[in-house]
Amino acid sequence: MSQTITVKVKLLPTKEQANILQEMSRAYISTINMLVSEMVAEKKSTKKSSKDISAPLPSAVKNQAIKDAKSVFKKAKKSKFATVPVLKKPFCIWNNQNYSFDFSHISMPIMMDRKATKTPIRALLIDKENRNFDLLKHKLGTLRITQKSGKWIAQISVTIPTIEGPGLKVMGVDLGLKVPAVAVTDDEKAHFFGNGRQNKYKKRKFRSVRKALGKKKKWNAIRKLDDKEQRWMKDQDHKVSRAIVNFAKDNKVSVIRLEQLANIRRTARTSRKNEKNLHTWSFYRLSQFIEYKAGLEGIKVEHVNPAYTSQTCPKCSEKNKAQDRKYKCKCGFEKHRDLVGAMNIRYAPVVGGNSQSA
Ligand SMILES: [Zn+2]
Repeated sequence: MSQTITVKVKLLPTKEQANILQEMSRAYISTINMLVSEMVAEKKSTKKSSKDISAPLPSAVKNQAIKDAKSVFKKAKKSKFATVPVLKKPFCIWNNQNYSFDFSHISMPIMMDRKATKTPIRALLIDKENRNFDLLKHKLGTLRITQKSGKWIAQISVTIPTIEGPGLKVMGVDLGLKVPAVAVTDDEKAHFFGNGRQNKYKKRKFRSVRKALGKKKKWNAIRKLDDKEQRWMKDQDHKVSRAIVNFAKDNKVSVIRLEQLANIRRTARTSRKNEKNLHTWSFYRLSQFIEYKAGLEGIKVEHVNPAYTSQTCPKCSEKNKAQDRKYKCKCGFEKHRDLVGAMNIRYAPVVGGNSQSA
């Protein structure tokens, strides 16, 4: 078992290299667009090889462009030419035999004085979670270079083997506001993640600053503040998801179960989870982060039907309302109310396909 992910690496080309990359990426997409329109006109795949293409690109890159154009054509054909995509954003792709990577530079053939010359371009490996270094030790696939808000980015596809964990230890994770996440394993190890009260305080602070800026009509400052809040929330989600996956790893968990969020949205209007509904997006992002990080550790994520998960007794399935902080049932079950949701999520019916849509 393996999975392919994309690792983003910042590039620091010299001015000359940047100019060349810019020209090459434009040539790359215009080659694809040209080949696709030829194929669409003839209604069949191209027989052209790199020799038939005059664009200023190394022949390996031309071959990659032909390959890309063929797959664009194939998709267009499948749609009976209802949609023929035209690439607009310049990029350029090298296959894995045409570049190398030594953890400080990416070297690939670029066009110097009309000749393809293997050239090292400085790469910045540092990322927020410091994972790129480990990821890039695996089998590397294609290298895609593009520009994102003025910065050069290398997107390297990496194939990572997923290790099947021994046994089938399940952990339920309940996402919430008061406590951002609660996890309980099937051998009853429980953990609370994040700090809901602090998050609430921080959000209130952002809101009051925003209000003050609004009165002064400082729209630019408001926009900056919004960005700052978004970054902060995303950072929180990164931290919480990392901690959850580490907890799962430490407890040899092989399956993490989360509530299916699309269902929350559908049923939220009348349920007590209405408050949650307002935050569907942030729960969605957090669960995506958990899924991604768990995947890298070979831990599977499943989504379960969220019906009654915080009211049902995990021992006898009776429905009870929690009083104060305690959840009590006639059958003798008694636990902290915030644990009940995660305990039930462990064994709730898994929603088909295990995938969720935004
Ligand atoms: Zn009970």
